[in-house]
Amino acid sequence: MNGQRALNEKLKINWLFSPFSRCLICNELLEKVDEKLILEQVPTNTRLYSKNFWYCKNCKKVYWEGSHTDRMKQQLQKMNKTA
Ligand SMILES: [Zn+2]
Repeated sequence: MNGQRALNEKLKINWLFSPFSRCLICNELLEKVDEKLILEQVPTNTRLYSKNFWYCKNCKKVYWEGSHTDRMKQQLQKMNKTA
């Protein structure tokens, strides 16, 4: 395994552990944010099942764990298998 390959493997693993490391819209690095700080931007039912929130300070988009995260993880795991 050469250096580039090893680096790819490492990035892939990190991506699976923290799928929201970057904003899907502007690619800015996301910051973990306290639920209390983004209350108004998150639907009430979302707050019931998700305790992890991320925030893009560039476009102000808030991300949270939910069905769309699950789909993303499935997609990533599929990629991992075929890679
Ligand atoms: Zn953004």
